[in-house]
This record gives sequence, C-alpha cells and structure tokens, in this order.
Amino acid sequence: MEFPIFMDNHSTTPVDPRVMEVMIPYFTKAFGNSASRNHSFGWEAEKAVDRARGQIAQLLHCQAKEIIFTSGATESNNLAIKGAAEMYHEKGNHIITVVTEHKAVLDSAKRLERDGFEVTYLPVESDGLVSLEAVKDAITDKTILISIMMANNEIGVIQPIAEIGVIAKEKGVLFHCDATQGVGKIPVDVQAMGVDLLSLSAHKIYGPKGIGALYVRKRNPRVRIAPLIDGGGHERGMRSGTLNIPGIVGLGEACEICEKEMTEEAARMKRMQQRLQSLIMEGLDEVYLNGHGEKRLPQNLNMSFAYVEGESLLMGLKEIALSSGSACTTASLEPSYVLRALGVGSDLAHSSLRFGLGRFNTDEEVDYVAKRVIETVIRLREMSPLYEMAKEGIDLKSVQWAEH
Ligand code: PMP
Repeated sequence: MEFPIFMDNHSTTPVDPRVMEVMIPYFTKAFGNSASRNHSFGWEAEKAVDRARGQIAQLLHCQAKEIIFTSGATESNNLAIKGAAEMYHEKGNHIITVVTEHKAVLDSAKRLERDGFEVTYLPVESDGLVSLEAVKDAITDKTILISIMMANNEIGVIQPIAEIGVIAKEKGVLFHCDATQGVGKIPVDVQAMGVDLLSLSAHKIYGPKGIGALYVRKRNPRVRIAPLIDGGGHERGMRSGTLNIPGIVGLGEACEICEKEMTEEAARMKRMQQRLQSLIMEGLDEVYLNGHGEKRLPQNLNMSFAYVEGESLLMGLKEIALSSGSACTTASLEPSYVLRALGVGSDLAHSSLRFGLGRFNTDEEVDYVAKRVIETVIRLREMSPLYEMAKEGIDLKSVQWAEH
C-alpha cells in the first residue's frame, strides 16, 4: 500500500495514465490552433477536437455539435444559467434551483437575483432528494429555467433527473443539470432525461483540470444562450477563446474510458462502498449515514460520527485524504450547508466525513481506512466527556451548562 491514501475523489481525481498518453503529443508536435484553417497544424488540431466532441457525445447520447468546451464545470454552470437568463429574459424572469446545489449554481443564481431575476431555492427532504411535487408547484408562467444537479458532490445522492425532465418539458421550461459528479459514474442520456443544458468537468473523471463542457440542446427545442466571454466566435459564438487542445483531447479520452468501463467500475465501487460502510458501522456505535441509502453514487459515503469533530478526526488520519463536512471552501468552520439542508444538526454536521472512492482505490485501502477511522473515533471518544455522559445514560439535552 502506498501512502498517503487518496480517498477524496469528489474533489478531484488523478489523470488516468491512458488519458495522459493521448494528450502528450498535443503539447509539442501537434500544437496547432484548431482555428487555423490554412495549414496542416490547424487541421490536425481540429481533427483532435472533433474526435473528442464525438467521444463526449457518445457518453451523453447527444450530437457532437451540441458540445461547447469550457474551462470546467464552474464555467459551464455560469454559462448555462446566466446565458439562458440573458437570452430568455423577455419570456420570464423566474429560475428554480435547489438549496444543495454547488456554489457555482447557487452563486450564479444569486448574481441574477441582483440583476432583477426571481429565484426559488427548493428545499430537500431529509434524504437529500428534492420532491417532484415541489418542482412542479414552483413553476409559474414566468419560469424560464430549472437548474438541478444530477449527483451531489458531498452526499452523493442522485436526483430524479428524468422525472424532472418530464415536468420541465410539459411546462415548456428549460432544464439545466449540473452533472459534474454524475457523468462517467452513472449512465447519462440527455434525450431520455429531457435535459437541455448539462455541465461536466474532466478532472472528476480522471481527465485534466481546467477543461469541461456544456451540452447545449440543438433540437426540440433549439436552446440559445448568450456568451459570457466575447471574442473570436469560437464554439458557435457561445464561448470565445483559443481551444485548450490537450485538455479537450484528455476530456474526450476520459469520457471514452468511462463509457467502456462504467458498468464494471460502478459494480466494483459499489462493493467497496458497501464494505467500507459495513466495516465502519460494525466497528462503531452512533454513526449516521448522510443522504439516501440507495439513491447515491456508488463512489460516495458520507457519515457523521457523533461526539467527534470531523476536523479532529482528519487530524488523526493524516495519511488518508478525506473531506469533512466542516472543512469547506473558506477558512471558516461553518458546517456544510448541504448537511444542514437535510436537517442534520450542527453537531452532527461538524462530525461528518466524506469518503470519495475512485478508480485507483483498492480493497486493501478500504480495509485500512475503515480500521483507522474506527481506531481514531474510539480514541477521540475516549477523550470526550460528552460521549461518556451519553453512555452513562444522561440526556445531554437536559443538561444545564454553566455560563461563563
Ligand atoms: N459542480 C459540482 C457538482 C462539482 O462537484 C464541482 C467541483 N467541485 C463543480 C461543479 C465545479 O467544477 P470545476 O472544478 O470543473 O469548476
């Protein structure tokens, strides 16, 4: 076993050596600009881009020309939401999204609110799923866009995308899906799911960082979005800027590998996830699974360990890369807004860990991680007066704490 162990594959993934191999020539020998129409360097680059578009289209079940390359899912989400809002603002000014979305969606929506749009932030149930009734009820004659993610980056729950697609279609509302954590891990079919705009990112699927794509439906309906970046009119005018050819080649290859290996890989991930979960649950009491038990990515496990701070746990597990529900994007130790939206109390939200399994994890690593988590939780609980009191049967809620 090699240390440190990386089990934080929702944050990013290593580049698959097979992906790296196909990228390398495009840094040096085949360095052309795909917009150069008058020499072979340009043609070669264009050919590589076309191939990648085809590979992505195959994974999503769309046409190659419906793929717009971006710098990643943050940009794809911004482009989809702000681009659609600008294009359709005369039709209406209302957007629907969900409180557990990624910040790239929530903050784009907030920006639009400042520009006069109205946004409904739907709540989720305690399992992390949005209710279809709530989606339906939120739609008004002013609604132009619904933006709901496929799989959540913290708790891995998978939203009922195809059902939401049906609702959106019935009401004639565009449907954007941030599928960054879903693509390549679970089957995605933009036709069957009724998705009009879909965001993805290469670095979550063993491709390079800084490259992603937005699927923009061309037919039934033909979706139009205003660009965020103006310039040479690349990507059918929706995203100007010289294309990142090595990145695009890497994204295409990463998609093709996922398409070929997804079924087998998902089964392996599921086995590892279940093993990790049952080992931990057998070894410890007062452990709570966050998010729906079955409707979740096979790669994800998110658990709260009562009476233990997630951050202290991570401190005791330095040779393992995991995330805690209070880590966060900022230096502040706010508990995860996703867990809070599920109704998880602040204490349990602070005591959560996210395990993100990936292609390069092994069964041996799973066993090691489970063993070390159990040891560390037991050790921390031995030092916790609260845990001791709870074990003695004292109802902690009834305790009157002295004020200082
Ligand atoms: N959406 C989701 C659900 C994500 O998990 C992430 C990455 N954390 C993003 C969007 C942003 O992707 P990128 O890093 O490619 O900008």
